[in-house]
Amino acid sequence: MHFGFQSVTEEERREKIYQVFESVAKKYDVMNDSMTLGIHRVWKDILVHKMNPCPGTLLLDVAGGTGDIAFRFINYVRSVRQRQLQRKLKHHQNLSWQEIFENYQKDKFNSLGNSQVVVCDINREMLKVGKQKAQHLGYSEGLSWVLGNAEELPFDDDMFDVYTIAFGIRNVTRIDLALQEAYRVLKPGGRFLCLEFSHVSNPLLSRLYDLYSFQVIPVLGEVIAGDWKSYQYLVESIRRFPPQEELKAMIEDAGFFKVDYENLNFGIVAIHSGFKL
Ligand code: SAM
Repeated sequence: MHFGFQSVTEEERREKIYQVFESVAKKYDVMNDSMTLGIHRVWKDILVHKMNPCPGTLLLDVAGGTGDIAFRFINYVRSVRQRQLQRKLKHHQNLSWQEIFENYQKDKFNSLGNSQVVVCDINREMLKVGKQKAQHLGYSEGLSWVLGNAEELPFDDDMFDVYTIAFGIRNVTRIDLALQEAYRVLKPGGRFLCLEFSHVSNPLLSRLYDLYSFQVIPVLGEVIAGDWKSYQYLVESIRRFPPQEELKAMIEDAGFFKVDYENLNFGIVAIHSGFKL
């Protein structure tokens, strides 16, 4: 049984994808953990380590959903700031306690060093769950949430240092438009990073992975979220998504330079990277 995306118009497809994420939003994080056995957390960590953001970085996380990349970005920048502060204090051992305290307070209150992350997603429900999660986990500084379509971003040209899209691009109706928009909103020198399910080249592994995806994931979706169809869509969308080299060519067509990708777990997912010159 197929989700029936083959013969629909772009508008109908956009609408169906909206419904899928509207219906999975509340259970999205639990399902993510069960579908990937928690490994999506490691993949997201690797993405942020690859980005290696320094304090002051302005990040746009498109299709940012419930905020996983944004929270990791904030943690990463905070840890860089803490290391900077420790080094600074070490080098100022001859300062008075008062001066050390003032230095510390100054840094503490600006713990992201002017870094900011904007989470942009087309789906109100996903953003709502993300905002609740941020509140619960205590993230607020340097974080904002914007409703918007990756194909028509509500931002000016040349605004961001880094653009990320994690497990989002395969859900976008016109990938070419999303890539052009990524290019437009990045500053010259800015970096594009895309984390997405991809294609496993090893035939045996690929068969096992297919079995797991088509037989297990929709069942998990039904058991955990009572929603077989949405999870079947997620699996089908992974299979329809262009393989690594094809996506690389599409990113180059959008104008990016030094485009490359790294396969994780034999290509189950890949991280594509490119720069705007
Ligand atoms: N990035 C998050 C993560 O890694 O956990 C969420 C990924 S979730 C699989 C896909 C997200 O893409 C959903 O939140 C969905 O609403 C969003 N999305 C789908 N089409 C979009 C579009 N055209 N523009 C922006 N977001 C979109």
